[in-house]
Amino acid sequence: MLIQKFGGTSVGSAQRIKDLTKLVVNSTPKIVVLSAMSGTTNSLVEINNALYTKDTVLANELISKLKTKYEKEISELYSKPESLAKAKDLIHNHFEYIKNFTLDMFTANEEKAILAQGELLSTAMFHFYLEEIGVNSVLLPALNFMRIDANDEPDMAYVEANLIAELKKYPNAILFITQGYICRNAFGEIDNLKRGGSDYTASIVGAAIRSEEIQIWTDIDGMHNNDPRIVNKTHPIKELSFDEAAELAYFGAKILHPTCILPAQKRNIPVRLKNTMQPEAEGTLIANIDSKEGIKAIAAKDGITAINIKSDRMLLAHGFLRAVFEIFERFKTSIDMITTSEVAVSLTIDNDKNLNEILKELKEIAVVEVEKDQAIICIVGNLSKEKHGYGFKVMESLKDIPLRMVSYGGSANNISVLVSADKKKGALMALNKGIFNY
Ligand code: ADP
Ligand code: ASP
Ligand code: MG
Repeated sequence: MLIQKFGGTSVGSAQRIKDLTKLVVNSTPKIVVLSAMSGTTNSLVEINNALYTKDTVLANELISKLKTKYEKEISELYSKPESLAKAKDLIHNHFEYIKNFTLDMFTANEEKAILAQGELLSTAMFHFYLEEIGVNSVLLPALNFMRIDANDEPDMAYVEANLIAELKKYPNAILFITQGYICRNAFGEIDNLKRGGSDYTASIVGAAIRSEEIQIWTDIDGMHNNDPRIVNKTHPIKELSFDEAAELAYFGAKILHPTCILPAQKRNIPVRLKNTMQPEAEGTLIANIDSKEGIKAIAAKDGITAINIKSDRMLLAHGFLRAVFEIFERFKTSIDMITTSEVAVSLTIDNDKNLNEILKELKEIAVVEVEKDQAIICIVGNLSKEKHGYGFKVMESLKDIPLRMVSYGGSANNISVLVSADKKKGALMALNKGIFNY
C-alpha cells in the first residue's frame, strides 16, 4: 500500500482539493495523509494565544474569521446541495467546539484539541468531495491509532496494531484518508507531532504497514541544494541516502519534518518528495542508496544556543565530560554540536526550556558562558573520509564569515559550522557561490 502525504498548500483552497483527485484516484491502494489547509494551524495558534491571555473578544473575532474562510471554501468545493449541507454541518460543529473554549477554563490539553481541528476539517472535506464525485474512500481517524509515548516518541507497536485493525475493517477499500500531525499521548489525550508533523505521520504510517513507498507531496519539486527561501538560485536533488536526508531535515530543511526519515529508514521504505503543482517533475528519491560522492546540499537551523564550558581544573580530567553530559540528560535536552579543546568543551542546544537549571548545575563544576541567537549551517553529502578537499572548500567559501564552532568527521555525511544568526544568510549565500557556483 502506498502512502501519499499532501501538505498545507496542496490542500490550500477548494480548487487544490479538487485537483488532488488527479493524483489520488487510481487503482493503486493507498493511505492519503492530509495536513490542514495552509494558514489554518497558524490561525489556531493565534486563537490559542488569545484564549491563553483571556482575550475573549479577540478569540471570537479570530474564530469567526477562520470560520468565514471555511464557509467560502466549501461553497466553492461542492456543487450538490446535499454535500454542501453536510459540509456546513461539519464546519458548524468544529467551530462550535472551538468556541466552547472561550467560555471554559483553558489548559494545555485544550490547546492541543484546538490545534487538531485543522486536519480534522481538511480530511473530512476531501472525503465528502470524493463522495460527491462518486469515489469511494474511507476516513480513518488518526486519533484511533496514532499515539506517542511518555517521551513523545511514536509508540510504534501501538500504531501498528491499531492501524492494521482499522484497515482490516474495510477489506475491499483501496483509498483511505487520514489526518497528519494529530495523535494521542501516553494519557490518551489529544496531542500532536509538533509543527510540520504531517510528514512524520506519513512515515510512521508507512513504516507501520510496511508500505512500498512514502510520498511527500508539497509545493516544490523536491529537496533543493540550499534554502530557496533565502538564496536566489537552487536546484532539486535527484537522490539522497537516508542519512543525508535525515541530516538535512534535522538541520533545518523545512521541506521535511526534522525526525520523519527515521521510521522509513528503519524499515527501508523509500521516501519520494514530489511537487503537487508540477507532478511531472522528478522530485527527490530518498532511499538506501550509495549516494554519489560530494557535497549535495546545505541547510540552516536557527534558534541555537551555544554553551562554552571551561573546566576549572587545568585539564578536562576523566569524568568531566560525563558529568557535563549527565546534566543535559537529566533535563532531557539534546545536544547538536560539540567541540573540545584541552580545557573546554563547547556545545549547542536548540531547546532552551531548561537552560537556567542546566546552567545552575554546570556552574557547580565549571566556568560557563552562553551565547544565544546562533545558527548551525550544515553541509551535507557523501563526504568520504578517503577524499580530501571538502573541508577546504567549505572553509574557503566561508572565509569572510566569523565561525563560532566547526564540526567535521562525526559522520561522513556532514560538516557543521556555527555562526551568529545574523550571519546565516551571508553564510548560505557564500556556500551557494563557493560550492555550487551560483
Ligand atoms: P508542506 O506544507 O507541504 O508541508 P512546507 O512549507 O513544510 O510544505 O515545506 C516546503 C517548503 O520548504 C518549500 O516551499 C521551501 O520554501 C521550503 N524549503 C526549505 N528548505 C528547502 C530545501 N532545501 N529544499 C526544498 N524546500 C525547502
Ligand atoms: N498543520 C500542521 C502545521 O501546520 C502540520 C503540518 O502541516 O505538517 O504545522
Ligand atoms: Mg511541512
